[in-house]
Amino acid sequence: MLKKLIAAGVGLVVSTAVLAADFPEKPITMIIPFSAGGPTDTLARLLGQSMSKSLKQSVIVENATGAGGTLSAGRVARATPDGYTVLLHHNGMSTSPAMYRKLPFNPLTDFEYIGLVADVPMVLVARKDLPPNNLKELIPYIKANQGKLTMGNAGLGAVSHQCGMLFLRALGTPLTTVPYRGTAPAMNDLLGGQIDLLCDQTTSTTSHIRAGKVKVYGATTRNRVASLPNIPTFAEQGMKGFEMYVWHGLYAPKGTPKPVIATLGAALRDALKDPNVKARFADLGAEPVAADKATPEALQAHLKAEIDKWGPIYKQAGAFAD
Ligand code: ASP
Repeated sequence: MLKKLIAAGVGLVVSTAVLAADFPEKPITMIIPFSAGGPTDTLARLLGQSMSKSLKQSVIVENATGAGGTLSAGRVARATPDGYTVLLHHNGMSTSPAMYRKLPFNPLTDFEYIGLVADVPMVLVARKDLPPNNLKELIPYIKANQGKLTMGNAGLGAVSHQCGMLFLRALGTPLTTVPYRGTAPAMNDLLGGQIDLLCDQTTSTTSHIRAGKVKVYGATTRNRVASLPNIPTFAEQGMKGFEMYVWHGLYAPKGTPKPVIATLGAALRDALKDPNVKARFADLGAEPVAADKATPEALQAHLKAEIDKWGPIYKQAGAFAD
């Protein structure tokens, strides 16, 4: 329909309205910056499945990994702005400008914002047989074994990297870090005993914690995570001010027509109200945002505030990639 109208010389104003009326006519690709089976992937698949019910088209999750999530954001920034390519990304969208000298996208100018999605807590976990049994024991153990211990992460700018870096900075003890394309492979190596420590989201760690397959030292949240009530927060254990949660946003390339963004936004808000999504999120410690936050305005404002908050911290920390 749209192609025929364009071929017939009908102007852009009309084509945008037609595009929105017909949208979506084919599956939508939701690109995520990290590997399959990890926390972002889990969130994207739950969200995508539910959004596909409102959109009456499948939402296909594609894992485009690399460079701490920056490659996929760059790819979506350059994709055709027709609503068929969207990006689910987290804090990395706001922190990577301070960490990468050359970034293949500008978070403030290259995207249309669909809405905020959910907040996810993080926990510090270790291989099951690491000797310390709590944070109080872990801190001197890390200091004494600095040269031997390793910490996994999903690359510079991933939240696992940020969480680990802030934790080790608070201790004043750097460790050897091992970068992966997501925390799913990092978690596999932790379970296999190839690495010692990992700061990861509850969407991935919950099942391993419940099964007793990892040791857990604390949650990064202000209050205890409702679904994991036995895990103390870092603050409770004396690390005041250590607070971090993972926020997520849904983006489309700049220039995606507003009515298309509105359709995607409505599907996002439906998904966040979906009882199945709510139940799964609750079990995994993820908190869907309120409907008024799943909007372009709220995501844009939050992104800007996070860039302003974290930029100076990471610049000062000197966490850079070229
Ligand atoms: N969220 C990422 C993942 O899904 C990892 C990270 O940002 O630490 O693997």
